[in-house]
Amino acid sequence: MSDLSTIGGNLKYVRDKIAAAAELRSEELQKLCPAPKLVAVSKTKPKEAVVEAYQNGQRFFGENYVQELVEKANSSEIKENCPEIQWHFIGHLQRSKVPKLVSIIDSLHVVETVSSEKLAVCLNDTLKKKNVQSPLNVFIQVNTSGEESKSGASPDNLLELVKFILEKCPNLKLKGLMTIGAIDSSPELANDDFKLLYNLREEVCKELDLEQNALELSMGMSGDFEKAVIMGSTNLRIGSTIFGARQYKV
Ligand SMILES: *Cc1c(COP(=O)(O)O)cnc(C)c1O
Repeated sequence: MSDLSTIGGNLKYVRDKIAAAAELRSEELQKLCPAPKLVAVSKTKPKEAVVEAYQNGQRFFGENYVQELVEKANSSEIKENCPEIQWHFIGHLQRSKVPKLVSIIDSLHVVETVSSEKLAVCLNDTLKKKNVQSPLNVFIQVNTSGEESKSGASPDNLLELVKFILEKCPNLKLKGLMTIGAIDSSPELANDDFKLLYNLREEVCKELDLEQNALELSMGMSGDFEKAVIMGSTNLRIGSTIFGARQYKV
């Protein structure tokens, strides 16, 4: 259960923490990303919780499951109360679910979890078939921790995948890199996954002659978002600190 009465206060708490962490960044990072963006992760939470956050000024929301996202996006409750909502898809995406995901293209702001050429082609072709006018924003998910349980492109294949999307997928617009990373067991120390993602962006941009701010970095969740901001995140995905702990059906 989420307690609707606390969502506004939680959002303010998180925004204040993000702003305070952003002040601690180097001047260079502050220039690269003046205001890191907050994505409120509403997975498993009811539509009322989304509406409550929206009414407290939140516009970007993240969901992990295609079915749940599409149901929320199409519900009259959210359509009527949240006309400017922008969804981030942040879960593992199977190619068979792409048509369903793309069916909510009007409110789908970005797919953060493109991890292979096959998936990129599938998204690109589905959009082409639908005659979608403007390209869909995507991030490449990178498996920075090397854990088998995590999806994402391996760091070794990243440059190739970036080039593939830029050159072969006109219906996709590459906006950034994303990582989930390993559970952070040492809050005091720099996070290896965040550092790796930051360095990968630097390498890719150098190689392809892009400005660093051409690519966003999506990293940081409830447990480690302040550190992520300090380490260069531009896109925080925060769920339980805003909406309360999730309860999964057993
Ligand atoms: C659930 C989820 C989040 C949010 O996690 P919290 O710890 O609740 O903030 C962020 N990113 C991804 C990919 C998730 O699946």
